[in-house]
Amino acid sequence: MLYGKNDQSKKATYLQPIFGSSASERDIPKYKLGADPIEPRIAYQLIKDELLDEGAARQNLATFCQTYMEPEASLLMGETLEKNAIDKSEYPRTAELENRCVNMIADLWHAPEQETYMGTSTVGSSEACMLGGMAMKFRWRARAKAVGVDISGQRPNLVISSGYQVCWEKFAVYFDVELREVPMTADKMSLDISDITSYFDDYTIGVVGILGITYTGCYDDIAGLDAVLTDYNQTAKISIPIHVDAASGGMYTPFMSPELKWDFQLDNVVSINTSGHKYGLVYPGIGWVLWRDKTYLPEELIFSVSYLGGDMPTMAINFSRSASPIIGQFYNFMRFGFNGYKAIHQRTHDVARFLAETVESTGRFTLYNAGEQLPIVCYRLKDEDKQEWTLYELADMLQMKGWQVPAYPLPADLSDTIIQRYVVRADLSMNVAEEFAEDFKWAIAKLDDSRFLRRKDENKRVQGFTH
Ligand SMILES: *Cc1c(COP(=O)(O)O)cnc(C)c1O
Repeated sequence: MLYGKNDQSKKATYLQPIFGSSASERDIPKYKLGADPIEPRIAYQLIKDELLDEGAARQNLATFCQTYMEPEASLLMGETLEKNAIDKSEYPRTAELENRCVNMIADLWHAPEQETYMGTSTVGSSEACMLGGMAMKFRWRARAKAVGVDISGQRPNLVISSGYQVCWEKFAVYFDVELREVPMTADKMSLDISDITSYFDDYTIGVVGILGITYTGCYDDIAGLDAVLTDYNQTAKISIPIHVDAASGGMYTPFMSPELKWDFQLDNVVSINTSGHKYGLVYPGIGWVLWRDKTYLPEELIFSVSYLGGDMPTMAINFSRSASPIIGQFYNFMRFGFNGYKAIHQRTHDVARFLAETVESTGRFTLYNAGEQLPIVCYRLKDEDKQEWTLYELADMLQMKGWQVPAYPLPADLSDTIIQRYVVRADLSMNVAEEFAEDFKWAIAKLDDSRFLRRKDENKRVQGFTH
């Protein structure tokens, strides 16, 4: 071995303190491009450091989104990042995996044998809801024209409970549809169907049933809604379909409450969306939407992309995106199977029940959801007026132990009620939940021991991520 004169710059690189490079000592501009490249290792470390004081995702009880996947799934997803989901020609095998996922989901949601279901992956439920909403709007328009309704006479409308997720408000604004909100009531934390036909007219494009209201985790009575519509549609000029927003429930309910009818078993349910990155157990970036039959998917909304010399129909708002979340979804389906998903969700449910019991046992709270239906625990403070502290202080106190627990007012008409919510996910094990329970009791004791001075109007904020 021969050695030559040392490269001085290299030597400097490795003798510098902190991360061992002059680059780590340099002031790198934050809001414009730096002039010169830096070493990949240093860039990696500096960015990791930037992200250091973000909360620990697994202590985040606010989000529905998946915060853990198995190393094999992460590896596979990391190795498939370059695959473009829209490029069916270059990646036909990836397209085939997407196709299989759609078929598996259709089976899970009881798509009827005699109809030809269609479906696609999306970035998440929001995109999926836009597609579902658009299909209803276009189909309404064609039918309204056919029966002689003056389609420019009034804006089309969509009926939904006031507990909707913000994506429906986006849909209404982006696609110029009136959102007709059915108020949630104190004793009905989901869609009130008792008087729902009064919201309908010839301009109603559809009704959304929510399988898992984001605020409370309660299910809308979709079977009840279906019965109302069967009746209504017999004499309606333009029949009204149901779209089920099953962002959370779509990949939870079929495993945990298989007897519940909410899906394509109900005649008026024409389309359903779900978030693969919620109880589908995939990292963020994947949703699904399915129609029970192609008649519910107007042709104008379908675009062709080339596929192995031919054409393939697509429906999407996005064009290019990585296919790795689709592959992650397929991995989970193959790896867990029906019973695997069921076992995971059962554990999640048990943890939610345990946390609900912990909350209940303090005698200080009224529960809206005790982990039944979706594995969500949601409650308000009893005798709020008599309490020295609010749920916001409780959230702050829990934050001191690293837990992120949101507190926020309920939607329109109930906005005087402040609630707190835990979303229990698969990666919150019973051991960790027990630690949380200890911290929860500690926080209450600590607050009871404290004095608060507060401005009277300092109320009703939103603390933490609520969707
Ligand atoms: C989370 C959620 C959405 C939005 O889903 P993303 O996948 O985050 O876009 C829509 N509807 C409901 C009921 C939700 O819970």
